[in-house]
Amino acid sequence: MFEENRVKRVIDESRRQLLKTVSLGVALIPFAGLPLRSAIAADLPLVTADDPTAKALQYVSDASKASGAKPGSKCANCSNYQGAAGSAQGGCTLFPGNAVNATGWCSSWTAKT
Ligand code: SF4
Repeated sequence: MFEENRVKRVIDESRRQLLKTVSLGVALIPFAGLPLRSAIAADLPLVTADDPTAKALQYVSDASKASGAKPGSKCANCSNYQGAAGSAQGGCTLFPGNAVNATGWCSSWTAKT
């Protein structure tokens, strides 16, 4: 009886440890590719002024030259910007396949929260 209880405790402890390990692994899956994705997006070609989406959204590479931009608004502080903090350029969810300047701006600018 004593031995049976001891084995049961060992099995329970092993099961708890396995569940903790699996839970942590599952919780970290969404973050696994973030640095890589940011690095890849930064290496993408910069969006050009003749890009149809850029034209439609009035994208400019220098926010100070944008008419209608809120003071201080720029890609770096937009919720769609995917570049790392302090990066010169990075991806934008609205321009897949291209990078935007951190100092850029477009009419879809939305404050990062
Ligand atoms: S959506 Fe945001 S990050 Fe993308 S180009 Fe416009 S201002 Fe820049």
